[in-house]
Amino acid sequence: MLQQTQVKTVIPYFKVFLDNFPTLKLLSLSNETRVLKLWEGLGYYRRARNLLATSKILVNEHNSKLSRNLIDIKKLPGVGDYTANALLAFIHDQPTIAIDGNVKRVFARLLNKNEKKINFNKLIEINKKNFFKTKRNSDFVEALMEFGALVCKPKNPECFKCSIKNNCKYFISNKKFKQTKRLNIKVKNYNIFCYIDKMKNKIALTKKQNLGFLDRFYLPPIKESYDNKKIKNWNFHSNFKNFISNKKLNINLYYKFTLKIPPQHQWFSLKKNSEFIPTFTKKIFKQILKKNI
Ligand code: SF4
Repeated sequence: MLQQTQVKTVIPYFKVFLDNFPTLKLLSLSNETRVLKLWEGLGYYRRARNLLATSKILVNEHNSKLSRNLIDIKKLPGVGDYTANALLAFIHDQPTIAIDGNVKRVFARLLNKNEKKINFNKLIEINKKNFFKTKRNSDFVEALMEFGALVCKPKNPECFKCSIKNNCKYFISNKKFKQTKRLNIKVKNYNIFCYIDKMKNKIALTKKQNLGFLDRFYLPPIKESYDNKKIKNWNFHSNFKNFISNKKLNINLYYKFTLKIPPQHQWFSLKKNSEFIPTFTKKIFKQILKKNI
């Protein structure tokens, strides 16, 4: 849940999730519809699918136990280097560090160097003896992350109350290194086509679309496009922008009133649905309801 999402956003979802699935076994016995409904609004829904798939693999194939081997853990759905190392440290108390943005910044400041010029894996390997003097590896790893988030913050680090300032090259140096972080944002243009039943306030959605980032989720028909606003047989509704990960979506919304919808489409209410609807689709609903058509 914490991947790309702030702790304060996650907490209410985490509590509800644990109330519903207090054990790995109960999660593994659940299904995608239920898990996605509990995840609704949190975004990055692939995480929910991966978590459910992982729970089934662990319960059914590994007797509900997590391997102690990095390579084995990385075979689980959606688990990369960062998550695998975090799991090894948090669950098995192993001497390893999960390198997230906060940890990278702390090391970069301690060395007063550009993050891109640091080989973090090598750095950890070389300093293993210093880092892991403690037997509380899981606490050490968490402390490092928290230290980056709360003390060695991206802007205005709290150097004067920092307990390691005397060993920090950034603090000591007169020539402090400035981290320039340019996000590699890709702009993508899409046309979205809304079949609308005006009387019932309904919209047609389909899971049959070729959109990588919302694969197998309910959306109105969508096409990547560089067209201008005129499309035969469709009314232009509005243009809006939306960010998903490192993508900026530039969206032209079109509509037509109809009672007939193409195969593999279903009607959904524009206001309230018992079924899981991804956040992106809800934003489309909102956009449609904003303007009287
Ligand atoms: S002295 Fe400042 S820059 Fe250095 S580690 Fe502490 S908070 Fe970060």
